[in-house]
Amino acid sequence: MGELLATQQAKIETHPCYSKQAHQYARIHLPVAPACNIQCNYCNRKFDCSNESRPGVVSKLMSPAEAVARYQKVKMRIPETRVVGIAGPGDPLANPKSTIATLKAVAALKHELHLCVSTNGLNLLDHVDDLKAVGVDHLTITINCIDADIGSKIYPWVYFNHKRLRGRVAAQTLIDRQLAGLKAAADLGMLVKINTVLIPGINDHHVAAVAQEVKRLGAMLHNVMPLIAEAEHGTYFGLMGQRSPTESEIAAAREAAGQSMEQMSHCQQCRADAVGKLGQDCHADLDDDGSSACGTSALPAAERYIAVASQSGVLIDQHFGHATHFQVYQLTQAGIVRQPDRDVDQYCLGSTECDDESLNQQQRMSTLISSLEGCDQVLCSRIGMGPWQSLEQHGVTPSTDYAMQAIDEVLAIEWQRFCENSTQGTVSSEIGEVC
Ligand code: SF4
Repeated sequence: MGELLATQQAKIETHPCYSKQAHQYARIHLPVAPACNIQCNYCNRKFDCSNESRPGVVSKLMSPAEAVARYQKVKMRIPETRVVGIAGPGDPLANPKSTIATLKAVAALKHELHLCVSTNGLNLLDHVDDLKAVGVDHLTITINCIDADIGSKIYPWVYFNHKRLRGRVAAQTLIDRQLAGLKAAADLGMLVKINTVLIPGINDHHVAAVAQEVKRLGAMLHNVMPLIAEAEHGTYFGLMGQRSPTESEIAAAREAAGQSMEQMSHCQQCRADAVGKLGQDCHADLDDDGSSACGTSALPAAERYIAVASQSGVLIDQHFGHATHFQVYQLTQAGIVRQPDRDVDQYCLGSTECDDESLNQQQRMSTLISSLEGCDQVLCSRIGMGPWQSLEQHGVTPSTDYAMQAIDEVLAIEWQRFCENSTQGTVSSEIGEVC
């Protein structure tokens, strides 16, 4: 980092993620970005799980106004807070309005702060000037590879220009956009950190090439992070048995990448609503008045409602936009109870893509959301990006993870997860049994 300007050095020395020596400073992540425009095989964004610590997980989504109020409360309680970051739970730049509005409102407080954004980079080129203008100097881009053959094993789809791309084309589009966005950000003087998730057998032999290329384009710090792949997280890699790297594999990858790039080794793989100093996360302890002490667990939900789009009545085999009714199930500790079906107006009328933003389409979406009131989750075989975002903005989590699977088997899995999150008692996968 010898060639850095003194102003850049000062920005690094007070950011706990950029400098290990800055551990006395705290950060807060504001969870205002629900939607994501790509799917990574190691990611399963969740909204109600306060017991996990990993990117993409939050307890509660927030509007920009709620997020700024939370920051102000935290700042009063933790005056060492020096970084305000937006890192999800989706991608900040797939939610540019909320992200920029939140950053602008925080910047207007004129506190001594670093504004920070962590993105997959797909939309970075489109928003890099806005980020710079609002005062973002610290930017993280997750770049796992620069080879589309490798990328096609990590990203099942990428949503770009109103199209869902798959395979090599998807990966190449993402890589091209990431690298162009990185260069643009570095040219604007941003301090760009690159995160690379180390996935044994997929990109572990490739991190040195990533480091070399991102260095050439202006990145200043590289964070090789171990894959988190537990089956209970419900990620594709977790369910497929993809293993995490060993300590020695991580060390070897960092050493290889370190030939070209300064390496970060103190990353905590923060949640998207992390609060406090690195390694001392207080996300679950802040009541609405921001006053409770660190270490208290959030109260689990007593019930959960799941809506299922099904044509056959047996499988999760219907596109969200084609559904005219949803089967609804209530999950409690006592078991799973079928509720009356919800009849809805079909959202997509004829077209196969349902992402146009016409007034009619917006009205149909808003009627549909009212019909699904009280539901926490929607399971379907496919869904467009627009409806996905609208559902998430209204606190409903869409999922296509179980496409074409049997409804009763999926409900058993979801019920088991619900029980694990809501009680310390015995867990059974049998529908109807007390957990
Ligand atoms: S974890 Fe990432 S987004 Fe959060 S403050 Fe650190 S660098 Fe910024």
